[in-house]
Amino acid sequence: MTSKVFYGSPRQTRLCADETLPAKLDLIMGALHLRDRVKKELVCLKLHVGNNIGYSVIHPVFIRKVVQAIKDGGGKPFIVDVDWDVAGCETRGYTTEVLGCPVYPAAGPMDNYHYEHEWEYKNMKTWKVAGMVEDASFLVNFAHVKGHPSCGFGAAFKNIALGCMVGDTRGKIHDTNHYDKYWFKENCSDRALMQKIVDSCPFGAIVFDKKDPDELHLHFEPCNQCMRCQQVAPAGSLKIDPVNFHSFQEACAISTAITLSTFAKEKTVHLALANQMTPVCDCFGFTGMPILNDEGVFGSDDIVALDKAVLDKTAIRPLLLDNVPDCMEPQMIDAHPFSQLHGPFKDPYVVVRYAEQLGLGSQDYELVDVLPFERKGPAPMGYYIAAK
Ligand code: SF4
Repeated sequence: MTSKVFYGSPRQTRLCADETLPAKLDLIMGALHLRDRVKKELVCLKLHVGNNIGYSVIHPVFIRKVVQAIKDGGGKPFIVDVDWDVAGCETRGYTTEVLGCPVYPAAGPMDNYHYEHEWEYKNMKTWKVAGMVEDASFLVNFAHVKGHPSCGFGAAFKNIALGCMVGDTRGKIHDTNHYDKYWFKENCSDRALMQKIVDSCPFGAIVFDKKDPDELHLHFEPCNQCMRCQQVAPAGSLKIDPVNFHSFQEACAISTAITLSTFAKEKTVHLALANQMTPVCDCFGFTGMPILNDEGVFGSDDIVALDKAVLDKTAIRPLLLDNVPDCMEPQMIDAHPFSQLHGPFKDPYVVVRYAEQLGLGSQDYELVDVLPFERKGPAPMGYYIAAK
């Protein structure tokens, strides 16, 4: 089945507010009939509110528009994110006064208000969905698109998968990377050789295990699969294998499936803003330079179609190499720019492929531009300030 993804380009023909992204977000919400669908609903608006001094999270102007649309439709909105991001979010402009509705920690101030769901996957069995999310009757998932060190990118899936679970479950999702064995000490018992493997990684991704110094531990986040370690590791001792990298994304798809299963199918809407796309997640608490040009705003009822459309649109853009932090080493391989930055095994399409297999949506989509850009050439600019 083909799903519709509504899209607003960042490009403007004229210098007017109607052609900018907040105005296009309004058109997208209209196309999704958001106002008509939220009457009397308790609407959970899931955002990533960032951390510390990050300023590339979704600007309050966009959020206020979504909150207002929900109120106009007769819904009761509230915003949620994980407890440690909500604490202090007023310093980034996220307050009730600015946004138009309250901002809550999704699982309460102690991160312990949750509902348990069972789904066996690698090291995971019990998944704890944040109580404020599951108590809502309607979910608006509004994601900021950016790079991510665990899986290459973060958008609609990651916003729900990590942000709607309590910390304990989030930790286990990250640990799925370690489930499949990758260090075989029987093939490298020599301590000096182990030290050589550790020293071979310029990103500090390989360390001696804290609990057992005879073991090596791989931090998957900084690893960009450059394979330098494979030049020094004895055969069969250290495996750098896609299966470990893909686990995180498969767990994200399952986590999202569990949270979405607590809502009726027609009671979820997914939005994504692809601007200020930084190298890593908004959790890092700072804003890096954008690694891709802004790509606009997207909306759909189908989360698979939405993230697929975001990836396809950004796939054809060049990585802004001048903006990549010097400590990173992009690989100019034939792959999505997020993979070029984070490594070939962090293929951002894994999550949408796996989620489609789980029945969460379709990779087959129709992109509907809500206000197509027209190249008209030089014209009177209409240069004025819209003062009232
Ligand atoms: S593949 Fe490269 S980045 Fe990854 S652990 Fe080995 S040396 Fe480090």
